[in-house]
Amino acid sequence: MNLKRVTELRQLIHQYNHDYHVLDMPTVSDAVYDSLFKELMTLEASDPKLKLPNSPTERVGGVVLSGFKKVTHTSAMLSLSNAFSTADLRDFDQRIKKLTTHANISYFAELKIDGLAVTLHYEDGQFIKGATRGDGIVGEDITQNLKTIKTIPLTIDETRPLEVRGEVFMSKSVFDALNHERSQAKEALFANPRNAAAGSLRQLDSTIAAKRKLAMYAYSLVNADDLGITTHAASFMHLVGLGFNVNTISATCQTIEEVIQFTQHWEEKRNQLPYDIDGIVIKVNELNERTAIGNTVKSPRWAIAYKFPASEVTTKLEDIIFTIGRTGMVTPNAVLTPVSVAGTTVSRATLHNEDYIMNKDIRIGDDVIIRKAGDIIPEVVAPIENLRTDATQPFKMITTCPKCHHTLVQPLGEVDHYCPNPTCPAKTVATLIHFASRNAMNIDGLGEKIITQLFEAGLLFTIPDIYGLTAQQLLPLERMAEKKVNNLLHAIVESKKQPLDKLLFGLGIRHIGSKVAHTLAKVFQTMDRLSQLTVNELIQVPEIGEKIAISLVDYFADPQNQALIQTLKDFGLNMEMTVQHALTTTSPFTDKTIVLTGALQIPRSEAKQLLETVGAKVTSSISKKTDYLIAGPGAGSKLEKAESLGITVLTEDDLINLLGRVHTT
Ligand code: NAD
Repeated sequence: MNLKRVTELRQLIHQYNHDYHVLDMPTVSDAVYDSLFKELMTLEASDPKLKLPNSPTERVGGVVLSGFKKVTHTSAMLSLSNAFSTADLRDFDQRIKKLTTHANISYFAELKIDGLAVTLHYEDGQFIKGATRGDGIVGEDITQNLKTIKTIPLTIDETRPLEVRGEVFMSKSVFDALNHERSQAKEALFANPRNAAAGSLRQLDSTIAAKRKLAMYAYSLVNADDLGITTHAASFMHLVGLGFNVNTISATCQTIEEVIQFTQHWEEKRNQLPYDIDGIVIKVNELNERTAIGNTVKSPRWAIAYKFPASEVTTKLEDIIFTIGRTGMVTPNAVLTPVSVAGTTVSRATLHNEDYIMNKDIRIGDDVIIRKAGDIIPEVVAPIENLRTDATQPFKMITTCPKCHHTLVQPLGEVDHYCPNPTCPAKTVATLIHFASRNAMNIDGLGEKIITQLFEAGLLFTIPDIYGLTAQQLLPLERMAEKKVNNLLHAIVESKKQPLDKLLFGLGIRHIGSKVAHTLAKVFQTMDRLSQLTVNELIQVPEIGEKIAISLVDYFADPQNQALIQTLKDFGLNMEMTVQHALTTTSPFTDKTIVLTGALQIPRSEAKQLLETVGAKVTSSISKKTDYLIAGPGAGSKLEKAESLGITVLTEDDLINLLGRVHTT
């Protein structure tokens, strides 16, 4: 089984290497490539019999294009092994410490610019020859093209033979302009600046390269030893003295923790750079130690490339299951072999609807590409058809509701299927989940699991049932200890104070999202007023269109809904939007989870209260769910943990400034 998989992965990676290195036209993202490559490495490491000398894991990926003169490198131009997490970096540090006897190894951290490696030869102070990396042993002679790059000195003040390596790249602005020009001329666009730079350098006609405004950062002085240089940092200074362009965004780090800080800083700031980077390169700084540490056939052991967490990865689609929303809409969801993407473990992803699955021909059993960017719900981007087995079958949409078995309907012209049964249990549970959710009534402790439990216990069917729950009903249930019950009941009572916009949103009225609910509540202020409005009155509000207005009027015209609102009123729910509510609901801290640590000038309890008034949740420990850590002087382990999880850390001054930044419009 593993042998078959390894063979398939090798074939696919060879093909991707060809598309990327030879054609300069990648067919998958680097993240997907890295994900499959990592799987191949893991499989090969699990069984030595699976290793082969011609595996892509054992070779530098590129090739030499015919048409160019070949250049045999003086020393191999290798690839770099990858680290995908801070844990991988700490492992790298441990390996280095075992491989060297030097007491105080230091590291040099540099940005990994996404371009292509070149090597430059100088004799008698003249640039005489330059080459690409090629397959690592033999490269392509691109001297004429390199001469057109302004940041490569053609003469230097050093008569001894010298070899300098560096990265040729295209800045983002040059890339955008080039692609704009190509689109005007109806020419094929470059996929990214890296491929544009590679495509430009590997042109037989050097006038093309000359027009492409490429640049180079030097990052290695190959014969530094001959010049008596002992550290990588000193070689950088020497290169500057000779007139080379080196990237000043680099740092000598005494410990791996300093390296990690550097990686985290630039991971956050990478979008502000004028060029693309795909990671950080970390190298042992002491040059003589590098020889002792040595290389593998593919990469030096004394260096590593830390790759930023990818927003795309590959994994297996194990099953497709269906969830029913509160409107009855059926959503197909992918059940995945758990995989880490953008810092979180993902085991479910949306497949949107039948059309989406059919158009992409996504099948159970496929290897699939998953994307998760920022707060976006993870989605299945596409299957990797080259890895598909014969056992897979095209997807077939279900025809009945998986919960109540009612026949599904698909309204004419819509892509979605719906369960039309008004008493479908899945719809009821989804309605309650929505009502209690954070952006609506924010009832802490009343999540999907408990709602389902209470529904199945026959205690919860409608929204008002929530407010009728008692300790006597809850305590006999499984996993319902006294403290949990008290907290839940307290949260339910507290939710009665939620402002009108939260209630309006929580009711789940068609087309009334949280922003529209906020606008409506702010303008009309009370539920009574809202319930009496006409379509004409509603559409006078700039953000309210006819669709929303009709939906709202219809909702209030329905006697069942009128009765629901009256019952909620009787339970004492707030039905108003005060000026204070309207002012505070859109603070930058609204709906954020915040932890306070260190010595703060405002008393801790006051800071907590201030944050809670603007709708933030203040918790005591850091987790992945934390949005911000407010850290005062003397902050310790919480600060460290927040930094290691990449959580934004704010000062007390930031807190005060941001609290002041409340949107009133
Ligand atoms: P690599 O990109 O991981 O690392 C080696 C290269 O890093 C060097 O050759 C050099 O060009 C570059 N580099 C940038 N800054 C550097 C610095 N400061 N010091 C040293 N080197 C620096 O390895 P690789 O073998 O060149 O390429 C493999 C990577 O290319 C993959 O991880 C993947 O991301 C990408 N790739 C993508 C596809 C695809 O289909 N999308 C196919 C093949 C390769």
